[in-house]
Amino acid sequence: MFVPVLPHLAEDIFNYSPASIKDSYLADKNFFQSNVELDSASILLSNWPKIKTEYINSDLARDWTRILEIREACNKEIETLRQEKIIGKSLEAGVSITANETDYQLLKKIEAEIKAVFIISDLSLESGESLSVKAYKFDGLKCVRCWKIFNESEIHNQICKQCETAISG
Ligand SMILES: [Zn+2]
Repeated sequence: MFVPVLPHLAEDIFNYSPASIKDSYLADKNFFQSNVELDSASILLSNWPKIKTEYINSDLARDWTRILEIREACNKEIETLRQEKIIGKSLEAGVSITANETDYQLLKKIEAEIKAVFIISDLSLESGESLSVKAYKFDGLKCVRCWKIFNESEIHNQICKQCETAISG
């Protein structure tokens, strides 16, 4: 897919690919436009990749379309706080989300990831009548490694638990 915009880079990547990867391209009848030998193969002669139908998941696509809509609603509230200079960036914010049952169940499924997806440091999630979102400044301590804000008890030696795990190997 790099070929139209970065032909030389794409060719370099192809040329330096391990033989096993090149062999898998040659074994794939649809990869090249015509029969080519490995020695003379060029990525410039490859076909546009076909989407693997097993990767298409309409349930997941629908869920994530909705999640991104909710994130958009949160971003609007966070942007208001930023314009009012209450916060500097979205990681200084928390959001409380009230959502109808369908949205609530959807967000519950990804609750552990919401903060990362929405780029916020605090979250409260409730089920209610309809979607309403409120952003607030989350007061806490900043992890010096990832810059997310945490409650004081979650920070040790200036960094959060996740970062501690990441750097302890
Ligand atoms: Zn951290």
